[in-house]
Amino acid sequence: AEAKSSMEFKTELKQLLHLITHSLYSNREIFIRELISNASDAINKLRFDSLSKEDLLEGDRDWKITITPDKAAKTLTISDNGVGMNRETIVEHLGTIAKSGTRGFIEALKSQNASSKPDLIGQFGVGFYSSFMVADKVVVLSRAAGEKDAVRWESDGQGTFSVEPTIRDKRGTDVILYLKEDALEYLEPYRISALVKKFSDFVEFPVVLFAEQEENKGPVEETLNSRTALWLKSKNEVQEEEYNSFYQNISGDFEKPLSVLHYNVEGNLQYKVLLFIPAKRPLTYQWEEPKGVQLYIQRVLIMDSCEGLLPPYLRFVRGIVDSGDLPLNISREMLQQNAVLDKMQKGLVRHILEELEGMKNTQKDKYIPFFKQFGDFLKEGIANDWTNKEKLADLLLIESLNTPAGELTSLSDYVSKMPESQKDIYYLVGETREFLAQSPLLEAFKKKGYDVLLMTNNMDEYMITYLTEFKGKKMVAVDQGTLPDLDEPAPDAAAFQDLFKTIKEKVAEISDVRLSNRLSESASCLVADAGALTANRERLLQRMGR
Ligand code: ADP
Ligand code: MG
Repeated sequence: AEAKSSMEFKTELKQLLHLITHSLYSNREIFIRELISNASDAINKLRFDSLSKEDLLEGDRDWKITITPDKAAKTLTISDNGVGMNRETIVEHLGTIAKSGTRGFIEALKSQNASSKPDLIGQFGVGFYSSFMVADKVVVLSRAAGEKDAVRWESDGQGTFSVEPTIRDKRGTDVILYLKEDALEYLEPYRISALVKKFSDFVEFPVVLFAEQEENKGPVEETLNSRTALWLKSKNEVQEEEYNSFYQNISGDFEKPLSVLHYNVEGNLQYKVLLFIPAKRPLTYQWEEPKGVQLYIQRVLIMDSCEGLLPPYLRFVRGIVDSGDLPLNISREMLQQNAVLDKMQKGLVRHILEELEGMKNTQKDKYIPFFKQFGDFLKEGIANDWTNKEKLADLLLIESLNTPAGELTSLSDYVSKMPESQKDIYYLVGETREFLAQSPLLEAFKKKGYDVLLMTNNMDEYMITYLTEFKGKKMVAVDQGTLPDLDEPAPDAAAFQDLFKTIKEKVAEISDVRLSNRLSESASCLVADAGALTANRERLLQRMGR
């Protein structure tokens, strides 16, 4: 066999390694995720190759990833019985090729300011090279499936690596990390166990910890991951109980979820979805943060909260999306510009809104409490999600003149009950229903049998400025401008001109005086000019100190 040779990393890898070895990381624990995912990839690859070449297995199909801490040597070893590497492929994969993900990552790093770089690495990983966040020396022993010669790769991450022949009695790979003095915590079984649970619980193959025991009793084996990726199962294989505990696990909520969306997308894009709509909006502030949904790529947790997967107004939704199309070491910047993510978002939003629509139409007893908890988010959506505005508007529940106090109507219901003569949708925004219901502005509507939406929620005034029509009908504020249906000019208007003139002279704040059919009992009322602030909006602004 060939002798030991020393080689240089490719330039861009050198830059990356320099950054890794010269910075501090808040999230360096992700190295374990990266190494486990490489091990899992290697097993998957061999499992696939062996479909056509069974000899490769040499009788061993007991797939396993093992983690062995050695406190005396201060090493942590991650091993697998996957496809392995030979001298040629190890040089290629661990030294000279920057994987597409890594390369994009380096580009992203260059465009970032220095202070945020370490965190980027920590959060998204740079595959194998993440090892150097915790180790000052890494040795890889590997033997490719179907080959006899093994190879030893070694580097301190400073710009060069060496390869030489070695002996390994079975196929597969050991990655041996010589831990930095400040990273010895990763030798502790409880720490390893927690990290595997956190990042790799759903990895398909068992991740086994070889824990040392006291008094030379020999190591004990413990499988750390549960391996139950609920979202990979089909819906009818999963018990409600499993959904509930899974939801509680990822959300920190103690309640059961209100509904579960579990489906599989195949075709151009492939991804699996397991989303939960919570029943209650917790009192704690944390849910108000744009937390979003976890992003997995082929069963490996990539991001705890992937903002791009859902628009901010759906931040109350919890769950998991597992993509088959994204590279594992993708950075946040790349994700933000990623077309795959955009397409997934569109699909997810559609499913969530359809779920809510179905609930609204067939399970009112579920939907009404939901709306009371999360209606504000949907209103935020009306202001922000232009493409889904109409769908979101139809999810609103609003009080109206004709609904008994405390009951709610939807815009569709409202429209379906409109008398033929009514062209527009009428609304009035204010503080309380009681206050609004006695407004003289409503007299003519009552008389004509037109319903008026009475909006008293904090978000309504904001939302309604974005909701100018629904199903082709204009949304018209009762206290604003002229109302075509009602303000027909009276034939004897001329007779009042002198009176109007006098009023305008006496009351400076009034810009116009009109005859109107709005009122049937009161003598007069104030309305805002079209396009001007309504009385309620003015009140809101005053309260905000403008
Ligand atoms: P990625 O996993 O995105 O390809 P990594 O930096 O994590 O990038 O790994 C680089 C390459 O090294 C892998 O693509 C694979 O070919 C090889 N490799 C890493 N770890 C192993 C392993 N345990 N067994 C076999 N090959 C491995
Ligand atoms: Mg990898």
